Amino acid sequence: MEPSKEQFYLQRIAELEKQVAELLAQVAKLTQQVARLSKNSSNSSKPPSSDIVKPPKPDNPKGPRRQGGQPGHKGTARSPFRADQIDRLEELHPTRCPHGHDAKLEPTGQSKIQQVAELRENPLEITEYRLHAYRCSICSEVVWGKLPPGVVEGQLTA
Ligand SMILES: [Zn+2]
Repeated sequence: MEPSKEQFYLQRIAELEKQVAELLAQVAKLTQQVARLSKNSSNSSKPPSSDIVKPPKPDNPKGPRRQGGQPGHKGTARSPFRADQIDRLEELHPTRCPHGHDAKLEPTGQSKIQQVAELRENPLEITEYRLHAYRCSICSEVVWGKLPPGVVEGQLTA
């Protein structure tokens, strides 16, 4: 005999309840991670290696430290992180007109921001990419700095 509709739905509900429980556990875990974003070795007894983010020192007017490298990040943040939560800031400048013009690119003053958060073993590192726009002096085409390979263009914060 085929399972009744009622049995089917009861089973489905049980499956979904299990999924909800798993998701709640994940949310709790992530909430703990986020809570630790504001708690690091500079204001707790934890050693520096336990830091999740390294906020800029208050007396550092430049904000987050800048650093090169190709992190190969994946994924994007859904809502912007505050400046003091940014672990790394990468300035991305275009180097060539997309039309291949061998011309100097002039900065337009425009930039757009993409934030990428990735859970590593620990710490969670938040990278802000600032993509700069330049204009070709020959054709006036505006060309933007490119995200590193592996970083998916997602939410952009003007
Ligand atoms: Zn051009």
